[in-house]
Amino acid sequence: MRMKNFDADIIIVGGGLVGAALALALKKTSLSVILLEGRAPCLDFDLSTWDQRVYAISRASRQLLTQIGAWQRIRPERLSPICSMKIRGDAVDALLEFNALESGVDELAFIVENRELQRALWLALADCSHVDIITPASAQALSVDLEAATLTLADQRQFRARLVVGADGAQSWVRGQAGIQASTKPYAQFGVVANFAIEKPHYGCAQQWFKTDGILAWLPLAEQKMSMVWSCDAELKNELLNLSPSQLAAKVAQAGNASLGELTIITPPAAFELKLNQIEQCVKPRLALVGDAAHTVHPLAGQGVNLGFGDVAELADLLTKTHPERIGDYLVLRRYERARREPVRLMQSVCDGLQQLFNNHHPVLMRLRNFGLGFTNALPWLKRQLIRHAMDS
Ligand SMILES: Cc1cc2nc3c(=O)[nH]c(=O)nc-3n(C[C@H](O)[C@H](O)[C@H](O)COP(=O)(O)OP(=O)(O)OC[C@H]3O[C@@H](n4cnc5c(N)ncnc54)[C@H](O)[C@@H]3O)c2cc1C
Repeated sequence: MRMKNFDADIIIVGGGLVGAALALALKKTSLSVILLEGRAPCLDFDLSTWDQRVYAISRASRQLLTQIGAWQRIRPERLSPICSMKIRGDAVDALLEFNALESGVDELAFIVENRELQRALWLALADCSHVDIITPASAQALSVDLEAATLTLADQRQFRARLVVGADGAQSWVRGQAGIQASTKPYAQFGVVANFAIEKPHYGCAQQWFKTDGILAWLPLAEQKMSMVWSCDAELKNELLNLSPSQLAAKVAQAGNASLGELTIITPPAAFELKLNQIEQCVKPRLALVGDAAHTVHPLAGQGVNLGFGDVAELADLLTKTHPERIGDYLVLRRYERARREPVRLMQSVCDGLQQLFNNHHPVLMRLRNFGLGFTNALPWLKRQLIRHAMDS
């Protein structure tokens, strides 16, 4: 009866990590979902190769991914726990260290490749009768009235639902159709990513250097490998992308004080432009935004997709508790918006503040930030608070 005029209760536009996770998280409800994705991910890839894109998945995100049946589908040999972290400034003695044992946990986070996580989510989706996946799908028009949201595809197929969710990434088409403006701050930086085989074991230690020429992160991968994210300006990005594989490996090894010995490149480098996207509203009547469609952050804390999974947990919980006929009500959706405002703003401000602090060559600031790292390191209580927040956000 309920579905008389609708093709589904919810249309999710975008089947990336966040959209796919939301579709799965609605399994425990009686709601039906249409998931539209422009390009189906490849689920059968060569395991002797590695994805350039890797994520640090927080403990809170792992919990969500376990609840929705995706974590269990990640092959254990592709997962790498982070057992400790070393964060260094641009002075030799400026060091901040965290470790899992001190924090009373087995690991601080996990590193997993983008494609492996995407595969796990889509395999779990294949077992869901409440989700109808339409891919490739190219959305052309969206209209919302009192009764329904109607989405028209380029091939003129139309779908009506009570709620449409934009999970379509930083350039969100849904956000544009809804007339929601994003304020964008370009960082004039790029995230250069590449993976390396390493000579010395990493022992599950993630390392980060806040340097005058950018922020360099080395993330532990399984099988004695590591993944690099170097956030840097256009000049250094171009230099890194144009080096030969052996020159790049030598440059990266040197930038990390050869702490993992000699490096050998195993995936070619790629670069992503870094921007901060903020929006004033992430809901409208019959419409909500999740993931990068709702916010982007600087990758220095590795929290972008974790924020998106936080959106999923909040929105799915709200929709579960709401009568199906009311899931598109603005007043209901506002609860989701209010609940996410503070954690999203806080993470954006912290990452933005750190990026500005370390992207400044003023000598006093340089001394202060190095002092700040060492000072924080000497305060176990403060360290515990910081690490709890990062693990549980
Ligand atoms: C260099 C770098 C390193 C990062 N490292 C980390 C990290 O360590 N940890 C972390 O948490 N985050 C990290 N992030 C952030 C993370 O990549 C993003 O937050 C995350 O990918 C966002 O996922 P999403 O599903 O919201 O969007 P996306 O991954 O952009 O997915 C959007 C999906 O929507 C589809 N789509 C788009 N438009 C349409 C349309 N009109 N119709 C149908 N489908 C559509 C796309 O095909 C895509 O599949 C990093 C980012 C960068 C740039």
